[in-house]
Amino acid sequence: MNLAVLGATGSIGASTLDVAAAHRGRFRVFALTAHASADALLELCRSHRPRYAVLSGVSENAALERKFKEAGSELLFGRAALERVASDAGCDAVMAGIVGAAGLASTLAAARAGKRVLLANKEALVMAGALVMRMARESGAQLLPVDSEHNAVFQCFSDRRTVLKIILTASGGPFRSLPLEKLAAVTPDQACAHPNWVMGRKISVDSATMMNKGLEVIEARWLFDLAPERIEVVIHPQSIVHSLVEYVDGSVIAQLSNPDMRVPIAYALAHPDRIASGARALDLAAMKSLSFERPDHERFPCLQLAYAALRAGGTAPTVLNAANEIAVEAFLAGRLPFTSIARVIAETLESIPGSDAGNLDAVMQADAAARRKAGERILRGQAA
Ligand code: NDP
Ligand code: MG
Repeated sequence: MNLAVLGATGSIGASTLDVAAAHRGRFRVFALTAHASADALLELCRSHRPRYAVLSGVSENAALERKFKEAGSELLFGRAALERVASDAGCDAVMAGIVGAAGLASTLAAARAGKRVLLANKEALVMAGALVMRMARESGAQLLPVDSEHNAVFQCFSDRRTVLKIILTASGGPFRSLPLEKLAAVTPDQACAHPNWVMGRKISVDSATMMNKGLEVIEARWLFDLAPERIEVVIHPQSIVHSLVEYVDGSVIAQLSNPDMRVPIAYALAHPDRIASGARALDLAAMKSLSFERPDHERFPCLQLAYAALRAGGTAPTVLNAANEIAVEAFLAGRLPFTSIARVIAETLESIPGSDAGNLDAVMQADAAARRKAGERILRGQAA
């Protein structure tokens, strides 16, 4: 299988290449992409020898091109090159591992071209779920969830007519038991120090606010075609049970593993087969306990904001996602307190009227309007 790894220099990219390299006879790396990390991408090209390398945030540069050529890869520049490799006839499967809205166009291109799409980039489904699903249906593309919770649900989901609900687990992140009055002063490094997973900085902040789980509820709505009231969230601090499916007979089926993204990635890569992922075997007896609790909505207002946007429908989830990206970026840059992330998102949602999200233009307009509003709100807050 020829594989394109979009976002190869990130955390998902590294885990994907690790699994692929352990099964070289089965997966051939066709293309690797990064935004601006040229040196890291070149290193990856030397090890995995893809046909194409893409630097989506860099303009043409002959010296760089030469270096990649010496490593055996043709280097392409600019955003359009992402769509080109994702839809290339020589590529069978696309790992959508770019972070944020920047991953939408290439995910759509892969879906439109009928590829096997390994979906890590949840923001694409949050922004434009109806569109991505329609594109995949029309082309026959297979969308395989990589997000650990959705991958777990996918593994446990058999007869959809008898499914009552799905239960997504959430670790609660680094601030699950921090005194509430201390939340306003937490730093980006504290927010990114996730207790169980090592991930990119944006998703780490999303985990700390629990917006990550909110985005995942929306992602689940599209992947499994379930109404919001049939998608539940439960806090499970050990991150061993990755999600559960409840059936009409009272049976609840769960998927368990050590927290290691190579498990869902290997499952999505090889589906319907199973292959070794490199993850450590689970030793249940060595674990003291597995615990579960309800989310605290005062501590995690972002989760409720996401449910509200999902219920509102149309472009509300697009607005939620864009405002979140702007707020998280400002928090990471030290321009916004942690507790204001939810406020910026709530005010942005209130100030932008909902519209239909059935076409890409409407989605992109809502995304741009939300980014503008959220940016203005953050500036006003700084001035105040
Ligand atoms: P990282 O920040 O570690 O990596 C992001 C990757 O995307 C890098 O290769 C980066 O390139 C590239 N990139 C960044 N900005 C752009 C842009 N504007 N255009 C094109 N490429 C860009 O992120 P993660 O690997 O943590 O997350 C990737 C996606 O997977 C996210 O959507 C996240 O929600 C999802 N996910 C991640 C999990 C994890 O364990 N990490 C778990 C479940 C889902 P460069 O290095 O040049 O900046
Ligand atoms: Mg997840």
